[in-house]
Amino acid sequence: MDDTENICLACGLCCDGTLIGHVQLKKQETPVLNQLMDLEGDPDNGFFLHPCQKYCNGCTIYQNRPFQCKSFECGLLKSVEQGKTDFSSALRSISKLKQKRKNVEKSMEVWGINLKSNSFYFQMVELEKHLRKESSHSTVKAKTLKSQLKELNLFVGKSFGVFFY
Ligand code: SF4
Ligand code: SF4
Repeated sequence: MDDTENICLACGLCCDGTLIGHVQLKKQETPVLNQLMDLEGDPDNGFFLHPCQKYCNGCTIYQNRPFQCKSFECGLLKSVEQGKTDFSSALRSISKLKQKRKNVEKSMEVWGINLKSNSFYFQMVELEKHLRKESSHSTVKAKTLKSQLKELNLFVGKSFGVFFY
């Protein structure tokens, strides 16, 4: 097993809903995936939402995973493949993101912000809209969350090539 496979096994942030909110299926993939998990949409436009039901410290349907899963490579993975980032630095970026996610989740819990989405990715999309609309922009709560979200968005953009907004 090479470093790139190890990185993904240690990470899982694109399966657990942190960096991606849903997986869009190709029409021909729907019948097989429909046997394996609960899908949304219809036979011509099937998809599933994250956190993925089939993620459990790795993909439990690896041989049947959809094209989007097979083909997705985040910026960190590409950087490791190209030899620009070594294995230890990549692991540090993954840990940092997990910590930043925890910090934002903790702030939302403390301040009683309940969002509708299940995945962290769509929650961050929602949170950004929520903070933009909030009338009390100057409260400590709004300022802290805005700053945490901005920092998180910049970090995932720079390290993983993904932006929430
Ligand atoms: S976010 Fe990147 S490194 Fe992590 S599992 Fe997905 S592709 Fe691999
Ligand atoms: S099907 Fe497998 S690879 Fe795709 S999101 Fe789910 S756990 Fe990840």
